Amino acid sequence: MTLPDLRIKEGVILRSAHLRPHMTDIIVAALRYAPEMKGNEVWITSAKRRPAEKTKSKHPMCGAFDFRCKNILAADRAALVNRANEWAADIKKSLGSDYDVLAHGDGDNFHVHVEYDPK
Ligand SMILES: [Zn+2]
Repeated sequence: MTLPDLRIKEGVILRSAHLRPHMTDIIVAALRYAPEMKGNEVWITSAKRRPAEKTKSKHPMCGAFDFRCKNILAADRAALVNRANEWAADIKKSLGSDYDVLAHGDGDNFHVHVEYDPK
């Protein structure tokens, strides 16, 4: 099967900093290890965000991407969550210890968060 297409949700802000190699590596890994998706598309739902949020994520520094999970093909919610967790684990394994990867969020906001966070 061909790798999914990359789609960007309307309103998502990408800056040149998102095109640094250690960031594009995230996108390539997300596409490569994606489970079967509706329309064979992987969606970035968040990139740069203002630092208003309480979490210490790397979104404000252009160091993180979120990938939509609601379009994962699965029989039910539990299967979808399993596939998202496997996706996150595969991305993490591929990118290594300089990256944090987590499937989280409620309902349709469920997503795989990947950030570059060298220790
Ligand atoms: Zn995120």
